[in-house]
Amino acid sequence: MTYFDYAATTPVRPEAVSAMVDALGHFGNPSSRYPYGREAALRVKAHRELVAKAIGCAADRVFFTSCGTEGDNWAIRRGVEVNRRRKHIITTAIEHSAVLETCRELEKQGYEVTYLRPDKSGQISVDDLRAALRPDTALVSMMLVNNETGVILPVAESVRAVKAFDKHILFHCDAVQGFLKVPFTMASLGCDTVAVSGHKIGGPKGVGALYVKQGVRLSPLLTGGGQEDGMRSGTEATAQIAGFAAACNAAMADRERLERTAAIRDYTLSRLQEELPMLEVISAHGAPHICAVTLPGYKSEVVVRVLGDQGVCISSGSACHRGKASHVFAAMGLSKPRLDGMLRISFSPDTTREEADMLVSALKDAAATLFTTLS
Ligand code: PLP
Repeated sequence: MTYFDYAATTPVRPEAVSAMVDALGHFGNPSSRYPYGREAALRVKAHRELVAKAIGCAADRVFFTSCGTEGDNWAIRRGVEVNRRRKHIITTAIEHSAVLETCRELEKQGYEVTYLRPDKSGQISVDDLRAALRPDTALVSMMLVNNETGVILPVAESVRAVKAFDKHILFHCDAVQGFLKVPFTMASLGCDTVAVSGHKIGGPKGVGALYVKQGVRLSPLLTGGGQEDGMRSGTEATAQIAGFAAACNAAMADRERLERTAAIRDYTLSRLQEELPMLEVISAHGAPHICAVTLPGYKSEVVVRVLGDQGVCISSGSACHRGKASHVFAAMGLSKPRLDGMLRISFSPDTTREEADMLVSALKDAAATLFTTLS
């Protein structure tokens, strides 16, 4: 299998698998007071420190969650309550459904949501954000890297603009696609809350983390036994947390990973452009692991299926859309033939030129065959 869908999920790194197997052997409940429990608690503490190092913050600001979606839900649903009397939220039209659907739920509860539109390149304007701010704005939610285009949004500059307008407005960032893919620290972003996820970085599924800035009075989404310093109840997923931490550690140790990823993306794009003259590059200069191209007039679901039958995995957009047209590319104002032909290709630092060549040749064959069928 030739895999080009690393934005959807990543293979679990061997370091993460070993750490998880080891953690499964230490089955104690971190809340138990006897040695088995204390051992498990010490391990979770060490893993939290590693994840915090990768996020770029103090360990006591990291709260483990079950996934990026949970972090987004927690930060937004509880974040708006910090400014209880305010009923306005600002987000972007290109967020992941974890944010958009949460905002839609809040609209049903009486909140008004402004969805900032992207320009043709998929970028969000800080001036548009400034213009949308209101005295009753409770929260702003902006992703760091778009999962379909790879575009890096101006989060740090947006935080400065929002806080200059009113320091009480909470700023949440969905950094699921930016984590360990573009350099940042919590100090450089300045957000109040930031969500990340394990399975996008070589860790297992079912684990993520929410950073909560010191002094932000976010109440828990899940209540119960008071784990995670009272912030997120539920017995800690010790094996998932161990795998997540090991994946963070391995990524941090691989210092050239971002350069290698960008190099293989650029190689793939130049080969695609050489071999498929009708292909148009829609987005290619954001985070190194994602690019978006289109074959105008083709149906991307068909192209994806034909390639999949040959063992080559790419995406027609976010895996969460399940066949629905992408709201991101639609918001960018792409014409219908371009929209229909959108393909997302995403990379790992270890993607090889041979794999890229296989993709190019499979796509060329598919385009030729489908063209013949269509015409
Ligand atoms: N946010 C973004 C930008 C994503 O790409 C994803 C997953 O694709 C999520 C949130 C959801 O993360 P998870 O799958 O861990 O719930």
